[in-house]
Amino acid sequence: MSSCGKPFSMPSASRRRFLKLSAAATLAISGCAHFPEQRKKADLVRPPRAEATRLSEHLYVYQGPINIGIIRDADKALLIDCGDGSVASALPDLGIRTVAQVVFTHHHRDQACGAGQFVSAGAKIGAPAAERESFENPAAYWNNDKNLWRVYASFRPHRLMLTESVRVDEAYADGHRFPFGPANIQVIATPGHTDGAVSYVVEVDGKRIVFCGDCIYDNGQVWDIWSLQKGFAKGGAKIGAYHGFMGDRWTLIESLERIRQFKPSMLIPSHGRIMRQPDEAIGALAKRLEACYENYVAISALRHYFPALFTDYEGRPGQMPIRPGFAPPDCLRHIGTTWILVSKTGAAFTMDAGSNNIVQQIRKMLDAGEIKSVDALWVTHYHHDHTEGIPLFQKTFDCPCITDRRLAEVLTNPTAWRLPCLISEPVRVEKPMEDGQSWQWHEFKMTSYFYPGQTLYHSALLVEGEGLRMFFVGDSHTPSGIDDYCTQNRNFLGRGVGFQYCLSLIKKVRPTHMFNCHVKDAFTFTDEEIRFMRRVLDERERLFGELVPWDHPNFATDESWVRCFPYTQKAKRGSRIQLDLVITNHSAKTYEVQCCARLPEPFGGQPAQWAQASVPEKAEKSLRMEFHVPPAAATGRYVIPLDVVFGPWRLPEFAEAIVDVEE
Ligand SMILES: [Zn+2]
Ligand SMILES: [Zn+2]
Repeated sequence: MSSCGKPFSMPSASRRRFLKLSAAATLAISGCAHFPEQRKKADLVRPPRAEATRLSEHLYVYQGPINIGIIRDADKALLIDCGDGSVASALPDLGIRTVAQVVFTHHHRDQACGAGQFVSAGAKIGAPAAERESFENPAAYWNNDKNLWRVYASFRPHRLMLTESVRVDEAYADGHRFPFGPANIQVIATPGHTDGAVSYVVEVDGKRIVFCGDCIYDNGQVWDIWSLQKGFAKGGAKIGAYHGFMGDRWTLIESLERIRQFKPSMLIPSHGRIMRQPDEAIGALAKRLEACYENYVAISALRHYFPALFTDYEGRPGQMPIRPGFAPPDCLRHIGTTWILVSKTGAAFTMDAGSNNIVQQIRKMLDAGEIKSVDALWVTHYHHDHTEGIPLFQKTFDCPCITDRRLAEVLTNPTAWRLPCLISEPVRVEKPMEDGQSWQWHEFKMTSYFYPGQTLYHSALLVEGEGLRMFFVGDSHTPSGIDDYCTQNRNFLGRGVGFQYCLSLIKKVRPTHMFNCHVKDAFTFTDEEIRFMRRVLDERERLFGELVPWDHPNFATDESWVRCFPYTQKAKRGSRIQLDLVITNHSAKTYEVQCCARLPEPFGGQPAQWAQASVPEKAEKSLRMEFHVPPAAATGRYVIPLDVVFGPWRLPEFAEAIVDVEE
């Protein structure tokens, strides 16, 4: 990729290093006022000593941060997944002296980040054939900027990619069988949570037990919803990952049906409780997923764009009817994703610039005398189909860029964020606006709003004049409802947040016209439609709450509830850098949070210090860390994973930050 104007440049491949620094560095928690005092690791996170549960003479499950299968053959063991490696401490009590083999259900860090110690001790590693590359060469993922910016077509592999490579000795295809001591093990492909995930059917001591990774969490539950984001085809229509909310739920259910056919007496998930009635647990999950999806479809904006995908739901009670739109007023032009408001004076107010073509079109309008000047650029949100033309726009037209203050934080410093469809080129914002701030533009009164609809970082603009109340809502609505089909955009459920907030704002603002950037027609929602959508969202909060184990469903849909800020940063050798772990507590309870960065070996391996804080309900809090980049550090990209403890949840390597060390 060209690096022209890019805020961070990649070192050349030959000099690129991945997670290897050559000198020691220190990690220290800063003395920043709102952050916790320094403490030794030992003072914090003393994990309750996890026990291994005996299932039969030769089979145990270690219930640590994840569940790990232990098959014992005299003093040797085979592990199914290894999590953060803490399972090692439970093995001596079982009379196990060596781990001969570790086999993985899938490549996520929570499954496999502790693999290194077993590999060094000589364990043979088995992994799903389809995910071999993710184990052996995660650097290929991290060093490819296409996995960081403009992410649209695929969210797989996911950012829970390993940060250190794990050598794979055996790659397993569907149907592969192998023995270990008294056990017979069969590999079955069970995609859904990841594309290449497998489950292990273990027959030992007269039992048949399935280790199913993250296919299911507990009776009728899954651990997260964001991992199901995937494109799909239905009714002759086809959508990509960005549009595929819960798009892999069919595949997941098929995988669980395959597991069910083995008639296991127990199902052991990676996260969650051992299920002793697998049939019932799987049946309950299938029902809940369908109920959640039906609720999602009921008011989905996607029905407007891809009706063929949803014909199964047409006419069902509980689906919001779609009213036709109507013509926009004469003061508006629509080109691509851009709306242009033209004043009687001939001045133009441009909203979004998704491509360089927009700039050409506006030039033509100027040349043709259709408009006399370009007065301003408004930005609805950060997606590339609304911003890609902005760098050229800002070079071409001398006018201020105006938008909501919170969105401006993303636009002006994009590499600090990890969000879908975000471009890495910063956008200049001359006028960041407060929520509700108004100003006069020729005959129109403009009011800027924070509008956490399609994404959390989104604005809306109310334009009043000529007897009209035109509300520009970016991509947040179509006549069929709300645009929340990409979980990575952070659409929060709950009263007072997300679309509940947006819908109550519409009711307050009472627009005569609403405009979406991708829809030619104007539309509105009646009070009854707004009430209906809010009821569906209330119900959704309840339904998704039942589907997941967290005490609020947003933890399962918002993969950024734990995130690093800045997500990527450049650093000079010998410099000091800061990193915040930002926690969004979606719960109605206060939680204690602890975190530590897992620095690579030359940094001293596991850092000695943890940061901790108490995060009040429904609040966001940052834990600040400071690092020294060793003066002898090789240039290149470093991925630093962070362990997080959130209330009862131990989440090894749950977040990561990227540091590009420069000359
Ligand atoms: Zn996983
Ligand atoms: Zn968008």
